[in-house]
Amino acid sequence: MKKKIAILGSTGSIGQTSLSIFEKNLKKFKIYLLSAHSNYSLINKQIIKFKPNYFIVTDPLVFKKIKNKYKKNKTKILNNFSDLPLMKMKFDITVSAIVGIAGLDPTIKFTTQSKKLLLANKETAICGWHIIKQLSKKNKSIVVPIDSEHFSINQLTKNYKDKDIKNIYITASGGPFLRKSLSSLKNIKSKDAIKHPNWKMGKKISIDSSNLMNKVLEVIEAWKIFPFNKDKYKIIIHSQSLVHAIVVLKNGQSKFLYHETDMSIPIANAIYDNNYDIEVLNLKKNSFNKKKQSLTFEKVDKKKFPIVTLLSKKICENSGSIILNASNEVLVDSFIKNKISYKSIYLYLKAVFSDKDFKKYAIKKSPSINEIYKIDEWARRKTEEIINKKNG
Ligand code: NAD
Ligand code: MG
Repeated sequence: MKKKIAILGSTGSIGQTSLSIFEKNLKKFKIYLLSAHSNYSLINKQIIKFKPNYFIVTDPLVFKKIKNKYKKNKTKILNNFSDLPLMKMKFDITVSAIVGIAGLDPTIKFTTQSKKLLLANKETAICGWHIIKQLSKKNKSIVVPIDSEHFSINQLTKNYKDKDIKNIYITASGGPFLRKSLSSLKNIKSKDAIKHPNWKMGKKISIDSSNLMNKVLEVIEAWKIFPFNKDKYKIIIHSQSLVHAIVVLKNGQSKFLYHETDMSIPIANAIYDNNYDIEVLNLKKNSFNKKKQSLTFEKVDKKKFPIVTLLSKKICENSGSIILNASNEVLVDSFIKNKISYKSIYLYLKAVFSDKDFKKYAIKKSPSINEIYKIDEWARRKTEEIINKKNG
């Protein structure tokens, strides 16, 4: 029997990469369910190509158009995850690749209905890992983080306990502004921030990568997922993006995981439990084929990337991470829409953290789903308020 596959966020960068891997082996995999928000032409292409049993289109207008167009088609078009008879379905593999907090609820639902869940949506890990962990344990489902740094940490620490580990480094490319002077960072526009030197990714994560917020989110993601002491995590600049994490052991040895800058590698290895011949995918040439390939590691310049100073247990340890995530989503969106300057992302985050109500919302240890949404909503409202006040 073919393995049943669901991809949440199938029109995105991770969703498309995942589909291109499953596509190589459609004798083994059945693309049973896809979901996307509003990319009309790509949704059409995916329905025609993969003939999924279900396609969830979350944008109401695009949903209407697609539903009308495929009225007589075998693919059922739904507008909401809640319209899906999910309890009757079991998936072999689900890829969670929606961007932002919108991915939380579907990921939680699919955890209980999937044998293996590949987790790309870092916002889910940051806000609701405790729920995912509990549900996956109860349902005996496997959750594999596929953010490349976490996929690496997972592999590298398999045989070690906290007592064996001195530090865990999460590498950062440094983004498009690594070699720019501090003064030239004043007038950054979103089109500049989106141009990532090494990876091709969605807009939001590309902007998060340019100011290192992506690394702040990734360290918090690692805090939540792995059982190691939080103080052991460090961010290090590695502009080639070939090493994804480094584990420094107390015995003096360090181990790192090296692979090409292509998300196909963690995704394919997560699908095939590390038993995969990557040549099937015809990726770009291996960097060992170059005449010379250097690996460099540099300290983060906190003046250029002040956002890394927000990574403190005081702010992010408990539900403060939900606030950081939500406020950042609002600020990145406002920056893309030219409502705020690049620098304001950091400054307004600081303003949220110094609000008189911050503590009240930030101290919850294991919030329920409803509490997560309440905290998320407060952070969004507060951030909008700060933006309007500063702009007005
Ligand atoms: P993307 O913007 O390319 O795609 C996002 C997907 O989510 C699309 O299919 C879109 O239709 C869907 N979506 C957007 N808003 C939605 C909403 N409100 N409701 C339902 N669906 C919605 O993003 P991406 O780069 O593929 O990233 C996806 C997730 O994976 C993010 O959480 C990101 O941080 C994480 N991630 C991405 C990469 C990467 O290389 N792209 C690497 C590691 C982790
Ligand atoms: Mg990453």
